Amino acid sequence: MLNNPADTTLTRHDRGVVVWFTGLSGAGKTTIASALATELVTAGKRVELLDGDVVRTHLSKGLGFSREDRDLNVGRIAFVAHLLARNGVAVLVAAVSPYKEAREAARETIGAFVEVHVAPPLGVCIARDTKGLYAKARAGELPELTGVGDPYEAPDAPELTIDTSTIDVAASVQQVRAKLVELGYLHAVSSDAGAQHRA
Ligand code: ADP
Repeated sequence: MLNNPADTTLTRHDRGVVVWFTGLSGAGKTTIASALATELVTAGKRVELLDGDVVRTHLSKGLGFSREDRDLNVGRIAFVAHLLARNGVAVLVAAVSPYKEAREAARETIGAFVEVHVAPPLGVCIARDTKGLYAKARAGELPELTGVGDPYEAPDAPELTIDTSTIDVAASVQQVRAKLVELGYLHAVSSDAGAQHRA
């Protein structure tokens, strides 16, 4: 049983990685992670998408939105993501994960951790309101919404920050892919087979 991926002789590429998308509701975490997942699967990678909303209906069913419950939720996601990543899976986590300390703990646990702050201005998230949560907050039905009633602690040094109000989905996905190549977690995906071998 491998407890620490760093102890293996596998290359970084084979070891798997956790790409952790953090940001406000409506920022674009799920959209980017889903599109990237599709691309990576097509490129032959083993991929798992852990979406915060889905995790809350299963693994974290019953948890609320207190700081304690939010941190517990993030800790559970990190635990599962770590298990998958050390078995060579590219894990894409899309979760608000508002507290720095919990994300840093996830980074510590996982090691192969790429933090992507999906960061359009709050006003853009409010205008998108993809899940109707900001309208609920405005109506006083969701006082604990992150960015409105609850804090969002932006990462100090994420591997990547994407302002999705200035670039489209395809360009956003491209930025993440390029970062994974730069960090050695992914070979360059190219229609030119020769380029794949050179990367
Ligand atoms: P989150 O998972 O962060 O709550 P979603 O991915 O559910 O956010 O929603 C983001 C919304 O923003 C979608 O409607 C998406 O089409 C739109 N959008 C616009 N530009 C981008 C972009 N560059 N990246 C991701 N989403 C974008």
